Amino acid sequence: MAVFVPTSLEELLTARAERPGLDLVAGGTDLVVEVNFGRHRLEDVASLSRVPELGGWRREGPAGPGGHLVLGSGLTYTEMLDPTLAELLPSLAQAARTVGSPQIRNAGTLGGNLGTASPAGDTLPVLAALEAEVLLGSAAGTRLVPLGEFVTGPKRTALAPDEVILAARVPVARGHQEFLKVGTRNAMVIAVCSVALVLDEQARQVRVGLGSVGPVPIRALEAERFAAEVVDWSTGRFSGGEADLRRFGELVGAAARPIDDHRSIASYRRRAVEVCARRALERTMSRQAA
Ligand SMILES: Cc1cc2nc3c(=O)[nH]c(=O)nc-3n(C[C@H](O)[C@H](O)[C@H](O)COP(=O)(O)OP(=O)(O)OC[C@H]3O[C@@H](n4cnc5c(N)ncnc54)[C@H](O)[C@@H]3O)c2cc1C
Repeated sequence: MAVFVPTSLEELLTARAERPGLDLVAGGTDLVVEVNFGRHRLEDVASLSRVPELGGWRREGPAGPGGHLVLGSGLTYTEMLDPTLAELLPSLAQAARTVGSPQIRNAGTLGGNLGTASPAGDTLPVLAALEAEVLLGSAAGTRLVPLGEFVTGPKRTALAPDEVILAARVPVARGHQEFLKVGTRNAMVIAVCSVALVLDEQARQVRVGLGSVGPVPIRALEAERFAAEVVDWSTGRFSGGEADLRRFGELVGAAARPIDDHRSIASYRRRAVEVCARRALERTMSRQAA
Protein backbone atom coordinates (compact mmCIF):
# COMPACT_ATOMS: atom_id res chain seq x y z
CA MET A 1 0.00 0.00 0.00
CA ALA A 2 1.37 3.45 -0.95
CA VAL A 3 0.49 6.57 1.05
CA PHE A 4 0.52 9.95 -0.69
CA VAL A 5 0.59 13.24 1.15
CA PRO A 6 0.08 15.87 -1.56
CA THR A 7 0.75 19.47 -0.58
CA SER A 8 -1.13 21.13 -3.45
CA LEU A 9 -4.40 20.55 -5.27
CA GLU A 10 -2.54 20.03 -8.54
CA GLU A 11 -0.49 17.25 -6.99
CA LEU A 12 -3.64 15.63 -5.55
CA LEU A 13 -5.57 15.79 -8.84
CA THR A 14 -2.62 14.35 -10.77
CA ALA A 15 -2.35 11.44 -8.33
CA ARG A 16 -6.13 10.87 -8.60
CA ALA A 17 -5.96 10.93 -12.42
CA GLU A 18 -3.09 8.45 -12.48
CA ARG A 19 -4.77 6.09 -9.99
CA PRO A 20 -8.57 6.25 -10.31
CA GLY A 21 -9.97 4.62 -7.17
CA LEU A 22 -7.12 5.98 -5.03
CA ASP A 23 -8.63 6.19 -1.55
CA LEU A 24 -8.91 9.70 -0.13
CA VAL A 25 -8.71 10.29 3.59
CA ALA A 26 -9.64 13.63 5.17
CA GLY A 27 -10.32 13.30 8.93
CA GLY A 28 -10.60 9.52 8.69
CA THR A 29 -13.57 9.40 11.10
CA ASP A 30 -15.70 7.42 8.61
CA LEU A 31 -13.06 5.74 6.47
CA VAL A 32 -11.02 4.30 9.34
CA VAL A 33 -14.20 2.87 10.93
CA GLU A 34 -14.97 1.11 7.64
CA VAL A 35 -11.42 -0.29 7.49
CA ASN A 36 -11.50 -1.38 11.14
CA PHE A 37 -14.79 -3.25 10.60
CA GLY A 38 -13.32 -4.97 7.54
CA ARG A 39 -15.87 -3.33 5.25
CA HIS A 40 -13.21 -1.52 3.25
CA ARG A 41 -9.71 -2.55 2.18
CA LEU A 42 -7.24 0.25 1.55
CA GLU A 43 -5.05 -0.04 -1.52
CA ASP A 44 -3.27 3.24 -2.19
CA VAL A 45 -4.38 6.21 -0.12
CA ALA A 46 -3.95 9.99 -0.35
CA SER A 47 -4.27 12.24 2.68
CA LEU A 48 -6.12 15.50 2.03
CA SER A 49 -5.02 17.22 5.21
CA ARG A 50 -2.06 19.11 3.69
CA VAL A 51 -3.85 20.43 0.59
CA PRO A 52 -4.35 24.12 1.41
CA GLU A 53 -6.88 24.74 -1.40
CA LEU A 54 -9.39 22.40 0.32
CA GLY A 55 -9.38 24.21 3.66
CA GLY A 56 -11.32 27.15 5.08
CA TRP A 57 -14.17 29.13 3.51
CA ARG A 58 -14.57 32.30 1.50
CA ARG A 59 -17.18 34.68 0.15
CA GLU A 60 -17.88 34.89 -3.56
CA GLY A 61 -19.73 37.90 -5.04
CA PRO A 62 -21.85 40.30 -2.96
CA ALA A 63 -21.84 39.92 0.84
CA GLY A 64 -25.67 39.66 0.97
CA PRO A 65 -28.27 37.89 -1.19
CA GLY A 66 -26.88 37.15 -4.65
CA GLY A 67 -23.52 36.22 -3.12
CA HIS A 68 -22.20 32.78 -2.22
CA LEU A 69 -20.18 31.14 0.51
CA VAL A 70 -17.67 28.58 -0.67
CA LEU A 71 -16.98 26.04 2.07
CA GLY A 72 -13.82 24.02 1.48
CA SER A 73 -14.25 20.26 1.67
CA GLY A 74 -11.60 20.22 4.40
CA LEU A 75 -13.68 22.48 6.66
CA THR A 76 -14.00 20.74 10.03
CA TYR A 77 -17.05 20.81 12.30
CA THR A 78 -15.05 22.88 14.80
CA GLU A 79 -14.36 25.42 12.06
CA MET A 80 -18.09 25.54 11.21
CA LEU A 81 -18.55 26.93 14.73
CA ASP A 82 -16.31 29.92 14.02
CA PRO A 83 -18.53 32.89 15.03
CA THR A 84 -18.25 34.70 11.67
CA LEU A 85 -19.28 31.64 9.69
CA ALA A 86 -21.85 30.58 12.31
CA GLU A 87 -23.57 33.95 11.94
CA LEU A 88 -23.80 33.49 8.17
CA LEU A 89 -24.84 29.81 8.33
CA PRO A 90 -26.42 29.24 11.75
CA SER A 91 -28.13 26.01 10.70
CA LEU A 92 -24.76 24.51 9.71
CA ALA A 93 -23.25 25.59 13.02
CA GLN A 94 -26.19 24.07 14.91
CA ALA A 95 -25.70 20.81 13.01
CA ALA A 96 -21.93 20.86 13.63
CA ARG A 97 -22.50 21.33 17.35
CA THR A 98 -24.45 18.02 17.44
CA VAL A 99 -21.75 15.97 15.69
CA GLY A 100 -19.81 13.39 17.69
CA SER A 101 -17.36 14.53 20.35
CA PRO A 102 -14.77 17.36 20.30
CA GLN A 103 -12.24 14.91 18.80
CA ILE A 104 -14.62 14.01 15.96
CA ARG A 105 -15.52 17.68 15.41
CA ASN A 106 -11.80 18.56 15.19
CA ALA A 107 -11.03 15.83 12.65
CA GLY A 108 -14.29 15.28 10.71
CA THR A 109 -14.90 17.38 7.61
CA LEU A 110 -17.67 18.61 5.38
CA GLY A 111 -16.09 16.77 2.44
CA GLY A 112 -16.05 13.55 4.44
CA ASN A 113 -19.73 13.90 5.32
CA LEU A 114 -20.49 14.46 1.61
CA GLY A 115 -18.15 11.67 0.52
CA THR A 116 -19.76 9.14 2.85
CA ALA A 117 -23.27 10.38 1.90
CA SER A 118 -24.86 8.55 4.82
CA PRO A 119 -28.62 9.19 5.06
CA ALA A 120 -27.82 10.28 8.65
CA GLY A 121 -25.03 12.72 7.68
CA ASP A 122 -25.87 15.88 9.62
CA THR A 123 -24.67 18.47 7.11
CA LEU A 124 -26.71 16.99 4.26
CA PRO A 125 -30.23 18.23 5.20
CA VAL A 126 -28.70 21.63 5.95
CA LEU A 127 -27.00 21.78 2.56
CA ALA A 128 -30.30 20.67 0.96
CA ALA A 129 -32.26 23.48 2.65
CA LEU A 130 -29.54 25.97 1.70
CA GLU A 131 -29.77 24.82 -1.96
CA ALA A 132 -26.04 24.11 -1.99
CA GLU A 133 -24.08 22.86 -4.95
CA VAL A 134 -21.07 20.57 -4.67
CA LEU A 135 -17.93 21.68 -6.49
CA LEU A 136 -16.02 18.71 -7.90
CA GLY A 137 -12.58 18.85 -9.45
CA SER A 138 -10.36 16.57 -11.51
CA ALA A 139 -7.26 17.05 -13.66
CA ALA A 140 -9.71 17.73 -16.53
CA GLY A 141 -11.48 20.65 -14.80
CA THR A 142 -14.28 21.41 -12.36
CA ARG A 143 -18.06 20.98 -12.29
CA LEU A 144 -20.85 22.12 -9.98
CA VAL A 145 -23.52 19.56 -9.06
CA PRO A 146 -26.67 20.43 -7.06
CA LEU A 147 -26.70 18.53 -3.76
CA GLY A 148 -29.84 16.62 -4.81
CA GLU A 149 -27.96 15.22 -7.82
CA PHE A 150 -24.69 14.65 -5.96
CA VAL A 151 -26.19 12.23 -3.42
CA THR A 152 -27.66 9.48 -5.59
CA GLY A 153 -28.54 6.94 -2.88
CA PRO A 154 -27.58 5.75 0.60
CA LYS A 155 -23.78 6.10 0.67
CA ARG A 156 -23.76 6.66 -3.10
CA THR A 157 -22.68 9.82 -4.91
CA ALA A 158 -22.06 11.19 -8.37
CA LEU A 159 -18.32 11.53 -7.66
CA ALA A 160 -16.28 10.09 -10.57
CA PRO A 161 -13.25 7.91 -9.77
CA ASP A 162 -10.81 10.66 -10.81
CA GLU A 163 -12.64 13.47 -8.96
CA VAL A 164 -12.23 15.14 -5.58
CA ILE A 165 -14.85 17.14 -3.67
CA LEU A 166 -13.41 20.64 -3.62
CA ALA A 167 -16.14 22.58 -1.80
CA ALA A 168 -19.83 23.18 -1.17
CA ARG A 169 -21.12 26.43 -2.72
CA VAL A 170 -23.98 27.94 -0.77
CA PRO A 171 -26.14 30.92 -1.80
CA VAL A 172 -26.32 33.57 0.93
CA ALA A 173 -29.87 33.76 2.34
CA ARG A 174 -31.15 36.52 4.63
CA GLY A 175 -33.44 35.13 7.35
CA HIS A 176 -33.53 32.84 10.35
CA GLN A 177 -32.29 29.21 10.19
CA GLU A 178 -32.89 26.20 12.43
CA PHE A 179 -31.50 22.66 12.71
CA LEU A 180 -33.12 20.07 14.98
CA LYS A 181 -31.94 16.51 15.45
CA VAL A 182 -33.46 13.58 17.32
CA GLY A 183 -31.23 10.79 18.56
CA THR A 184 -31.35 8.04 21.13
CA ARG A 185 -29.40 10.19 23.61
CA ASN A 186 -28.27 13.80 23.89
CA ALA A 187 -24.65 13.64 22.70
CA MET A 188 -22.37 11.48 20.50
CA VAL A 189 -25.36 10.31 18.57
CA ILE A 190 -26.22 9.56 14.98
CA ALA A 191 -29.55 11.10 13.91
CA VAL A 192 -32.80 9.17 14.12
CA CYS A 193 -34.14 12.12 12.14
CA SER A 194 -33.14 15.71 11.53
CA VAL A 195 -34.75 18.84 10.10
CA ALA A 196 -33.09 21.96 8.70
CA LEU A 197 -35.26 25.01 8.05
CA VAL A 198 -34.01 28.06 6.15
CA LEU A 199 -36.04 31.24 5.78
CA ASP A 200 -35.01 33.12 2.64
CA GLU A 201 -36.59 36.57 2.85
CA GLN A 202 -35.26 37.67 -0.53
CA ALA A 203 -36.70 34.67 -2.40
CA ARG A 204 -39.77 34.59 -0.08
CA GLN A 205 -39.16 30.91 0.57
CA VAL A 206 -39.23 28.65 3.59
CA ARG A 207 -36.95 25.72 2.68
CA VAL A 208 -36.91 22.43 4.56
CA GLY A 209 -34.29 19.67 4.38
CA LEU A 210 -34.85 16.32 6.09
CA GLY A 211 -32.17 13.86 7.20
CA SER A 212 -32.29 10.20 8.21
CA VAL A 213 -35.85 9.74 6.94
CA GLY A 214 -35.03 8.57 3.43
CA PRO A 215 -32.22 7.14 1.31
CA VAL A 216 -31.05 10.67 0.41
CA PRO A 217 -31.61 14.10 1.96
CA ILE A 218 -35.21 15.15 1.22
CA ARG A 219 -36.71 18.57 0.48
CA ALA A 220 -40.28 18.85 1.86
CA LEU A 221 -41.57 20.85 -1.11
CA GLU A 222 -45.34 20.75 -0.36
CA ALA A 223 -44.67 21.88 3.19
CA GLU A 224 -42.37 24.63 1.89
CA ARG A 225 -45.13 25.97 -0.41
CA PHE A 226 -47.65 25.85 2.44
CA ALA A 227 -45.30 27.65 4.86
CA ALA A 228 -44.52 30.42 2.35
CA GLU A 229 -48.24 31.25 2.32
CA VAL A 230 -48.53 31.65 6.08
CA VAL A 231 -45.67 34.13 6.33
CA ASP A 232 -46.50 37.81 5.96
CA TRP A 233 -43.39 38.64 3.92
CA SER A 234 -43.77 42.40 4.45
CA THR A 235 -43.09 41.91 8.17
CA GLY A 236 -41.49 38.45 8.20
CA ARG A 237 -44.13 37.45 10.77
CA PHE A 238 -46.10 34.21 10.89
CA SER A 239 -49.65 35.03 9.86
CA GLY A 240 -51.10 31.59 10.64
CA GLY A 241 -52.21 29.81 13.80
CA GLU A 242 -51.85 26.51 15.64
CA ALA A 243 -53.74 24.62 12.90
CA ASP A 244 -51.29 25.91 10.28
CA LEU A 245 -48.30 24.77 12.32
CA ARG A 246 -49.92 21.33 12.66
CA ARG A 247 -50.63 21.20 8.92
CA PHE A 248 -47.03 22.19 8.16
CA GLY A 249 -45.78 19.35 10.40
CA GLU A 250 -48.11 16.88 8.68
CA LEU A 251 -46.89 17.92 5.23
CA VAL A 252 -43.27 17.51 6.33
CA GLY A 253 -44.13 14.06 7.75
CA ALA A 254 -45.77 13.13 4.45
CA ALA A 255 -42.57 14.03 2.56
CA ALA A 256 -40.47 11.66 4.70
CA ARG A 257 -39.65 8.15 3.43
CA PRO A 258 -38.43 6.55 6.66
CA ILE A 259 -37.50 2.91 7.24
CA ASP A 260 -37.25 0.66 10.29
CA ASP A 261 -33.64 0.02 11.27
CA HIS A 262 -31.43 -0.56 14.32
CA ARG A 263 -31.81 3.09 15.36
CA SER A 264 -35.59 3.53 15.16
CA ILE A 265 -38.82 2.53 13.51
CA ALA A 266 -40.36 4.31 10.54
CA SER A 267 -43.52 5.46 12.33
CA TYR A 268 -41.52 7.11 15.14
CA ARG A 269 -39.23 8.81 12.62
CA ARG A 270 -42.20 10.25 10.71
CA ARG A 271 -43.80 11.52 13.91
CA ALA A 272 -40.49 12.96 15.19
CA VAL A 273 -39.81 14.76 11.94
CA GLU A 274 -43.32 16.30 12.07
CA VAL A 275 -42.75 17.62 15.57
CA CYS A 276 -39.24 18.92 14.77
CA ALA A 277 -40.48 20.72 11.68
CA ARG A 278 -43.34 22.37 13.56
CA ARG A 279 -40.94 23.50 16.30
CA ALA A 280 -38.43 24.79 13.77
CA LEU A 281 -41.10 26.91 12.08
CA GLU A 282 -42.46 28.12 15.42
CA ARG A 283 -38.95 29.16 16.55
CA THR A 284 -38.19 30.80 13.23
CA MET A 285 -41.34 32.86 13.36
CA SER A 286 -40.92 33.92 16.97
CA ARG A 287 -37.30 35.04 16.22
CA GLN A 288 -38.45 36.94 13.13
CA ALA A 289 -41.11 38.74 15.14
CA ALA A 290 -38.71 39.63 17.96
C1 LIG B 1 -17.64 8.50 17.13
C2 LIG B 1 -18.20 9.08 15.86
C3 LIG B 1 -19.27 9.94 15.95
C4 LIG B 1 -19.81 10.50 14.77
N1 LIG B 1 -20.88 11.36 14.87
C5 LIG B 1 -21.42 11.87 13.74
C6 LIG B 1 -22.55 12.74 13.82
O1 LIG B 1 -23.04 13.07 14.91
N2 LIG B 1 -23.06 13.21 12.66
C7 LIG B 1 -22.53 12.90 11.44
O2 LIG B 1 -23.03 13.36 10.40
N3 LIG B 1 -21.47 12.06 11.34
C8 LIG B 1 -20.91 11.56 12.45
N4 LIG B 1 -19.84 10.71 12.35
C9 LIG B 1 -19.33 10.35 11.02
C10 LIG B 1 -18.15 11.23 10.53
O3 LIG B 1 -17.47 11.86 11.60
C11 LIG B 1 -18.62 12.33 9.55
O4 LIG B 1 -19.31 11.77 8.45
C12 LIG B 1 -17.44 13.17 9.02
O5 LIG B 1 -17.93 14.30 8.37
C13 LIG B 1 -16.51 12.40 8.09
O6 LIG B 1 -15.47 13.30 7.71
P1 LIG B 1 -13.96 12.81 7.59
O7 LIG B 1 -13.18 13.98 7.16
O8 LIG B 1 -13.51 12.14 8.84
O9 LIG B 1 -14.11 11.77 6.42
P2 LIG B 1 -13.15 10.52 6.05
O10 LIG B 1 -13.40 9.39 6.97
O11 LIG B 1 -11.75 10.97 5.84
O12 LIG B 1 -13.78 10.18 4.59
C14 LIG B 1 -15.11 9.70 4.50
C15 LIG B 1 -15.37 9.35 3.01
O13 LIG B 1 -15.40 10.54 2.24
C16 LIG B 1 -14.38 10.51 1.23
N5 LIG B 1 -13.83 11.86 1.15
C17 LIG B 1 -13.40 12.64 2.16
N6 LIG B 1 -13.03 13.84 1.71
C18 LIG B 1 -13.23 13.81 0.36
C19 LIG B 1 -13.02 14.75 -0.68
N7 LIG B 1 -12.58 15.99 -0.45
N8 LIG B 1 -13.32 14.37 -1.95
C20 LIG B 1 -13.79 13.14 -2.22
N9 LIG B 1 -14.03 12.21 -1.27
C21 LIG B 1 -13.73 12.55 0.00
C22 LIG B 1 -13.36 9.48 1.71
O14 LIG B 1 -12.63 8.92 0.63
C23 LIG B 1 -14.28 8.48 2.41
O15 LIG B 1 -14.88 7.63 1.45
C24 LIG B 1 -19.26 10.16 13.51
C25 LIG B 1 -18.15 9.28 13.43
C26 LIG B 1 -17.62 8.76 14.59
C27 LIG B 1 -16.44 7.82 14.50
